[in-house]
Amino acid sequence: MSARLARPSDMKKKSKGAGREQRARAVRREADREAEKLRRDVSKLVELSPGGSPERPVQLASASQVEVEALAEPCPFCGERLRLEGPHEVESHGSERLRVARLVCGACRARLNRYYRLGATLN
Ligand SMILES: [Zn+2]
Repeated sequence: MSARLARPSDMKKKSKGAGREQRARAVRREADREAEKLRRDVSKLVELSPGGSPERPVQLASASQVEVEALAEPCPFCGERLRLEGPHEVESHGSERLRVARLVCGACRARLNRYYRLGATLN
């Protein structure tokens, strides 16, 4: 009889293979989530570090130091060298005009900005 073609044993065999694949996918998803979470945590730390946000610019004496300073530190995500996306820019934040270095990591493609304030240090 044709109704007996779809036997429970066949169904079982099929779902077992799919289950393995599903587990493998779940493991990958879990790893992705972990990596994503780690990246977010690092991003937060970068924002809170000097130069990581417009609220925390690094004080520099002259504009010629911006590129040097910006490239002095490696990628916070993977430790590889960062490179500048172009010449640094001037951005207004409130009443301040800040220099912004736009950086990109050659290895992991992370992008980040570093902010600088020009002028003589007060101390
Ligand atoms: Zn990187």
